[in-house]
Amino acid sequence: MENKPILLQDSHGRGHDYLRISITEHCNLRCSYCMPEEGVALTPKTHLMTVDEIVYIAKTFVRQGVTKIRITGGEPLVRKEAKEIILQLGKLGVNLTITTNGILVPDFIKTFKIAGIETVNISIDSLEKEKFNKITRRNYFDTVIKNIDLLLQEGFQVKLNVVLIKNFNDNEIIDFIALTKNKNIQVRFIEFMPFSGNQWDKSKLISYAQIIETIQSKYPLGNIERLVDAPNDTCKNFKITSYLGSFAIISSVTNPFCSTCNRIRLTADGKLKNCLFSNSETSLLEDLRAGKSIIPLIQQNLLSKKAIRGGMDDDLKFQNPEQFSQNRSMITIGG
Ligand code: SAM
Ligand code: SF4
Repeated sequence: MENKPILLQDSHGRGHDYLRISITEHCNLRCSYCMPEEGVALTPKTHLMTVDEIVYIAKTFVRQGVTKIRITGGEPLVRKEAKEIILQLGKLGVNLTITTNGILVPDFIKTFKIAGIETVNISIDSLEKEKFNKITRRNYFDTVIKNIDLLLQEGFQVKLNVVLIKNFNDNEIIDFIALTKNKNIQVRFIEFMPFSGNQWDKSKLISYAQIIETIQSKYPLGNIERLVDAPNDTCKNFKITSYLGSFAIISSVTNPFCSTCNRIRLTADGKLKNCLFSNSETSLLEDLRAGKSIIPLIQQNLLSKKAIRGGMDDDLKFQNPEQFSQNRSMITIGG
């Protein structure tokens, strides 16, 4: 029995109260920056967490001080038991959120509401249909646009995740900002990050500085307001004066926010990853299935957390394909 509370502290003094759980490695899209073109090897079903295991592990973390859980994937809503998982996690009394590509949202509105989900992050990298369909390698642009509006009508806070890639969608930064004029949404520009199989190289990166420069070329400085960031926020928040919505920049590559990191990740196959960029993982499932406590494993995993980006603490290491190609592809990590 796990009745001895521990603090989810690492050896750099960071407390961890935010758990991101991937509930599937499957997806109904094939975004090129996330899913390798050749696909990913399917993990045998018996190696994936069952609903009960997800809920048990989540409860263990909540007892140790986790107050926020994000459900992610792959595409979380394609999992057959997604509703059951969302509803069960909704009973844990945490701030429950979800990141989804939005395609299956209409079928989940009621579930989200019952589970107490108030904010939904939707990934959309282009406002141009052909481009969106090209990067996702599927044809769901109209569906996603419609479902963003549906979420707004239903009273959810909507955040749009936009991964910027040079010469692909960097010419749409201003169009995304324009969306915030009359809609109360937050657009989050994300720097393109390197993972196994996603053909990252630095020349494709649109940096924080470049994003700001582009916005300043269109809006006078006095109209761009810097908002107060929430504690542990990974983004720097802004808004255009008089616009209803806001925008933010997540600069994991050029300006990492590791010193205030409060996140820990659980992959769909029950492995703890203490950093998005870390190659090392701790499997919880064997001990869990053997009836042993998983708390020592959680502790051990957190104590091995590196100070910066899984140990890639300078640009040279970060840009070295030998380093990031040993990591999983994003689709199997859970972004
Ligand atoms: N399928 C859901 C979705 O797309 O929102 C959830 C999983 S997805 C892996 C989570 C987030 O990771 C998405 O917003 C996606 O844009 C982001 N992401 C994936 N690969 C990325 C990369 N190479 N660099 C930056 N963000 C990435
Ligand atoms: Fe699927 Fe999300 Fe990855 Fe796109 S970013 S392939 S929607 S998991």
